[in-house]
Amino acid sequence: MRPRKVPLRKCVACQEMKPKKELIRVVRTPEEEVLIDLTGKKAGRGAYLCGKVSCFKLAKKSRALDRALKQTVGNEIYDQLEQDFISVEEQFLANKELISDEDE
Ligand SMILES: [Zn+2]
Repeated sequence: MRPRKVPLRKCVACQEMKPKKELIRVVRTPEEEVLIDLTGKKAGRGAYLCGKVSCFKLAKKSRALDRALKQTVGNEIYDQLEQDFISVEEQFLANKELISDEDE
């Protein structure tokens, strides 16, 4: 029996390494939009955050997404993302159990 490899990603806010399914991906699309990507499959540069609003708030305070996405993220974008984050959090937690570790 060989151990299953769980892909780890780092939360850009608290810097913790976690399995991908514990994290919410934020993506900068080729159109330079910054969006929450629950599917984890959108094209573009991605940054990961724990699925907790507290980590989003930390990222907002430290402007961690600016650095991770290599783009200046405006305050209004952070505000919009924060609202989106809150609204997807519940869905994210509900879906988490259904997402496979073996997606790559
Ligand atoms: Zn975190």
